[in-house]
Amino acid sequence: MTDSVPLDDLYQEIILDHFKNPRNVQKLSDEEVLIEEENPTCGDQIRVTAKVEEGCIVGIKYEAKGCAISTASASMMSEALMNKPVEDARVAIQNFTRTMKGEQEMSEDESGDLIALQGVKRYPLRIKCATMSWHALDHVLDKMSVEK
Ligand code: ZN
Repeated sequence: MTDSVPLDDLYQEIILDHFKNPRNVQKLSDEEVLIEEENPTCGDQIRVTAKVEEGCIVGIKYEAKGCAISTASASMMSEALMNKPVEDARVAIQNFTRTMKGEQEMSEDESGDLIALQGVKRYPLRIKCATMSWHALDHVLDKMSVEK
C-alpha cells in the first residue's frame, strides 16, 4: 500500500516499525469484536476489544488493516493505554485527539513513540487515519461501562 504522507525523516522509522510489527495485534473472532470502525477516505479498518478489571484496562486486542499511519497509531494506542486506569485512558484519548486537531502540543518526554505521529496533523485528510483507533477504543470503553 502506498502512503502519500511524507513522514518526517526523524519519525518515519518509528512509524514504519509499528506498521511492520504492530504491538498487541491479534486475530479476533466476530463475537469478540466490540467496535469496528472504518475510515472510508483511506480504506482503513479497525476491529478492537478490551478487557477491563477493577477500573483498569488489562488487555487491548485489535486487528487493523490500512495505511501505515492507521496501523502504527493503533499499535501505539495499544501500548500507551494498556494497564492504564480507564479514567486516565480517557484523558489520553482526548489529549491525543486534540493534538491531532492542532489544539494542543505533545510533550516529547510524555508521549513516547506517539510523538512520531505529530506531523500527521499537517495533513487534514489523514488525521482520521491516526485518530480512528483511539476513537474506537473510546467507544469500546463506552460500551463496557454501559454493560456493567
Ligand atoms: Zn489511512
